[in-house]
Amino acid sequence: MNPSPSTTANAEAEPFPAGPAARRPTRQVRISWEGKSVAVGGDAPVMVQSMTNTDTADAIATAIQVKELALAGSEVVRITVNTAEAAREVPAIREQLDRMGVDVPLVGDFHYNGHKLLTQYPECAQALSKYRINPGNMGAGKKRDDNFAQMIEVACRHEKPVRIGVNWGSLDQDLLARMMDENGRRARPWDAQSVMRDALVVSAIDNARRAEELGLLGDRIILSCKVSNAQDLIAVYRDISRRCDYPLHLGLTEAGMGSKGIVASTAAMGILLQEGIGDTIRVSLTPEPNGDRAREVVVAQEILQSLGLRAFAPVVVACPGCGRTSSTVFQELAADIQSYLRAQMPVWRLKYPGAENLHVAVMGCVVNGPGESKFADIGISLPGTGEQPVAPVFIDGQRSVTLKGEHIAREFQALVESYVENRYSKR
Ligand code: SF4
Repeated sequence: MNPSPSTTANAEAEPFPAGPAARRPTRQVRISWEGKSVAVGGDAPVMVQSMTNTDTADAIATAIQVKELALAGSEVVRITVNTAEAAREVPAIREQLDRMGVDVPLVGDFHYNGHKLLTQYPECAQALSKYRINPGNMGAGKKRDDNFAQMIEVACRHEKPVRIGVNWGSLDQDLLARMMDENGRRARPWDAQSVMRDALVVSAIDNARRAEELGLLGDRIILSCKVSNAQDLIAVYRDISRRCDYPLHLGLTEAGMGSKGIVASTAAMGILLQEGIGDTIRVSLTPEPNGDRAREVVVAQEILQSLGLRAFAPVVVACPGCGRTSSTVFQELAADIQSYLRAQMPVWRLKYPGAENLHVAVMGCVVNGPGESKFADIGISLPGTGEQPVAPVFIDGQRSVTLKGEHIAREFQALVESYVENRYSKR
């Protein structure tokens, strides 16, 4: 009997491709501060950004949170600039960050009164590295056009890039009404949701073109079209990515709390990033009361790292555990090693370049433990129920030492540390 074709090797066959599609070509925008800059779009890696939730008028609290976000790996941090008090404090926040040696550009988030604040507080306009403009909440008709022009004029004067960020919740109502009317005249009218998605894209692109007509350089414009539903986000960004070459800021707005927010953001952004769409990402998580704001940075990094787009911190492969693991030792070890590795990264990034590519395995029993540990740079296979109480460690695929006793966690951590030192020390 002939074997089924699917089980035989075909000498002519190409391997099934893995990995993301090529990035969509875009212009490149530079966000600059204090003689340094970070690039968005073009050949730059997908950039991670975040936003504070402090009162910007409280300069110290805001500077501290910006520092925490930057230390977690945020490459750009956005702050709310909503009042005269907030605008007045922006230069002080910049100075405080410079004093603390925090190397991150600040973006001002403006709504309703941005044209006034940026004009009345030129030091604020200068201290910020980019302005986020929402054309949907700048008034209506001529007033909106004038306010928009005023903000673009400030951006031109201070040579700053802008993000024109349209939102589902604050879509330009005049534009939407006009597009709904036009839709009514179609031979086969679209459903209202499709018209709204189209209006978001049209609003972003039209405002970008208007900004260019007003004198802003085309390589100083980033666009975003945020919605709160994953399928709408995918549809909107697929559409806008085909209709312009401005870099795109990706994010699911109001993603929500905890696992819901993380899963929704990951599902939507993962698909788009895999298709080569998206030049900078922000994960909009609602923090738990007293929760860590920097979690949104970690999630954004993990999305990019899981897709193989960037590496930020060593990856820990840990099995989920099952009935073969009667204790929580391996769960604790996996959690400890993960937080230990992430905590080391600010130092390791400078001292051990490339350490972010390290793969560590922490496995719960003999079934997959040795195999998975061999695939990792360094891995440990802990004993499951009924197994000998020993934990073999594998380094570069070879069984190295066997740990036992109460201090397995500490000893394994020391082995990881020395592996990193040997492999990634600057020569
Ligand atoms: S490696 Fe062992 S403990 Fe972990 S999930 Fe597989 S069978 Fe269970």
